[in-house]
Formats: sequence, C-alpha cells, structure tokens
Amino acid sequence: METVTYLVKLGELTLKGGNRKDFEERLVQNARHYLERKRASVRLVSGRMYVEGPEESVPAIEYALSHLVGIAGWSRAAKVGKTMDEMKAAVIAEAERARDGGKRSFKIEARRADKDFPLTSYEIARDLGEAVYERGILAVDVHAPDAVISVEVRERAFVYGPTVPGHRGLPCGTGGRGLLLLSGGIDSPVAGYRMLKRGMKLDCIYFHSHPYTSPEAQKKVEDLARVLARYGLGTHLNVVPFTEVQQRIRDNAPVDYATVLLRMCMMSAANRLARAIGSKCLITGESLGQVASQTIENMTVTNSMAELPVLRPLVGMDKDEIIATAKSIGTYETSILPYEDCCVLFSPKHPVLKAKVAYTRELYDRAGLEPLVEEAFLARAHSRFGWEE
Ligand code: ATP
Ligand code: MG
Repeated sequence: METVTYLVKLGELTLKGGNRKDFEERLVQNARHYLERKRASVRLVSGRMYVEGPEESVPAIEYALSHLVGIAGWSRAAKVGKTMDEMKAAVIAEAERARDGGKRSFKIEARRADKDFPLTSYEIARDLGEAVYERGILAVDVHAPDAVISVEVRERAFVYGPTVPGHRGLPCGTGGRGLLLLSGGIDSPVAGYRMLKRGMKLDCIYFHSHPYTSPEAQKKVEDLARVLARYGLGTHLNVVPFTEVQQRIRDNAPVDYATVLLRMCMMSAANRLARAIGSKCLITGESLGQVASQTIENMTVTNSMAELPVLRPLVGMDKDEIIATAKSIGTYETSILPYEDCCVLFSPKHPVLKAKVAYTRELYDRAGLEPLVEEAFLARAHSRFGWEE
C-alpha cells in the first residue's frame, strides 16, 4: 500500500527558547486531535512535522493541515531512499507535474540535514537539476523560477513541489482562554481568529433581542462559531437574552447614549461569564474609528465595566484587511447575510462620540441596568461546537 507523506514546516514556535518543547508537543497533540480515528500518523523529528497515511486519508490530512494553527506551511512529499537514482526519479516526476500544470522554468533547492550523505547540497541540486533539463522537461531559472522543487536529505530523502501556506501563529491552547463577544458581523469572527492564532482557546458569547432580532440572526452566529471551532478545536457558544436590557436603555436613558450603554451591559455580562468559566480576557471586533461608537473615549467607557483585559485585535486594521481575512477563513459569506444584529435596534442616528466614564456610569446606574444584566446572564443558553462540524 502506498503511503502519502506530508512535510510540515513549523511557524513562529521555532523562535521559542526553553519552552519550545511544550509548544511543539501541543502542536503535535492538536494535529493528532484532527486525525483521531483516521488512518494517519503525526511525528515531529528535529523541528519538522511529518504526517503520513494511506491515500484514502488524504482528505482528512489536508483538512487537518489547512486548519491547524501554528504551522508555516505544508507540502505533499515523495519519500524515497537516500540514493541519487531514487531522488532523480522523484524530481523528474515532480518536474513533469509542474510542466503539466503550466510551469516552464524551475530550480532545485536542496538541503542536506544528514551530513554523512556524500554529496553537498550544491552537488545534489546540480545533479538533480541536470536530470530535469537534459530531458527537456523545464528550463533552469535560478532567479525567478515558475516552480521550486525541494529536496531534503534526512533520515530518508524527501522531494516536494509547492508549499501550501499555513495559518502560522502559535498552537491553540498555548495562550490561555479568551471570551469572544461574537456578533453576526464581519469583524468579531476575525478578531476571534486572530486570538486563536496567538494560541488562545476561545469561548464565545452572543447577545440577542428576540423578537426584535430574528432566529436567523442567531443561526448566523452559530454558523460563525462553527467555523471558528474548526481552527480552535471546538468552542462553546453562550447566548444571552438582552431584550429587556435594550428596552430598559431605550426607555430610561438619553438616546445618543444607547449604543455605549448597551456595550457596557455586554461587557458586564461577558465579565460575569468569563469569571464563571475561567477566561482570562474579553475579545471584541472593534476597530478604532470604524463606526461612530468605536472611539477611544467610548472604548474607555466600555473598558470601565470589565475587570479583565479587553483585547481588540482589529483595533489598528482597516476594513479591507478585515474583509480579506474573513474571506480567507470562511466567515465572510455568513457575516454578510442580511439579518440584523441587536446593535442596530433602537440605536441612535447620532451616538455620543466622546462619552465620559463618570457621567456614563451614572446613566448606567440611574437606568438600573445592572440587575437586568445579571438576570439576562442567569438566563443564558449554551451549546458546544466541535471542530469537525
Ligand atoms: P461586528 O462586525 O463584529 O459585528 P461591528 O463593526 O458591527 O462589529 P459593533 O456593532 O460596534 O461593530 O460591535 C462592536 C463589537 O461588539 C463587535 O465586534 C462584537 O465584539 C461586540 N458585539 C456587538 N454586538 C454583539 C452581540 N449582539 N453579541 C455579542 N457581541 C457583540
Ligand atoms: Mg455588528
């Protein structure tokens, strides 16, 4: 039976000093998690990860590698014996594949990790390259080749073509737990993904206002949580009913403060949940100046409700960058579905731009919001999404 080998390059964790081993172990554990009950093996040998299995496991392996956070890239490789003949055959096969895919020029990049191998990497590259152009498969171009064929001589020899970029970052589970305020919009799923890439384990909280917001709006959020779960090896979604909170704001506070007061209520509820489940921070999708309510002053007011650090990984990103990420991780199509979020409910045409902490807290207290927030928090529902959904 033919075994398929994937060569995986590690990402930033290669920069880790003393605790690099912990990061590597977590990465391998995560990769194995994706491949549980699949016929595939995961090994890590001197800074390289190898994933192997029979041809039938290819879809499962590629799914795993295209979601695994903490890797720089991966390639499907031919694993052959450490003889020039075997390497030559593999290089020729790879060159023919490149030619059939429309490539015209190539170069060989050889690396010799096994220093006992009799040829230097320069000699390996030269001899293998010769075999390709002698057969007229591709032209040599060492400066701007269409195709790079890589050869690595290690305990075996590996020959591979293009590398698929990985998600980079740090393995999920190395960065503590964070609680993401997940709305149905474009931004917050991207914010969650960015913290996942820093190794965080994510839980999510969503506020709805039935019947003002529709079941479809909630379904959207569930779908987004499902996508994040794929990268984060599962997630929990907590759904908090905020209708009464919003009505109280509408009826008992100046209209231009509605948005910032609602944000404060969200922070307070999220803070309670974080405490209950052991999250170490709150995460939002805010970006400075993106909408009128996202000013530094208003962020200061919302922060005043949170005991934990509030992380805003998108704070310095513009919308185009955020959209590009949303598209690449697969949340964009869901985020743009037209169901309204609770934020637009009763929201003012001209929200206050520079709210002040003391005054806004006074409005918050005067409207009696905290008891309602607590009630809403206690009435929350909860569901879990696995990475395989
Ligand atoms: P998004 O695209 O993430 O919805 P947005 O640009 O619409 O963000 P706002 O509506 O101002 O911005 O929301 C700012 C942040 O507050 C969101 O990114 C999210 O983290 C949080 N948030 C807003 N609405 C909700 C909600 N209904 N449930 C949970 N979190 C929310
Ligand atoms: Mg929104």
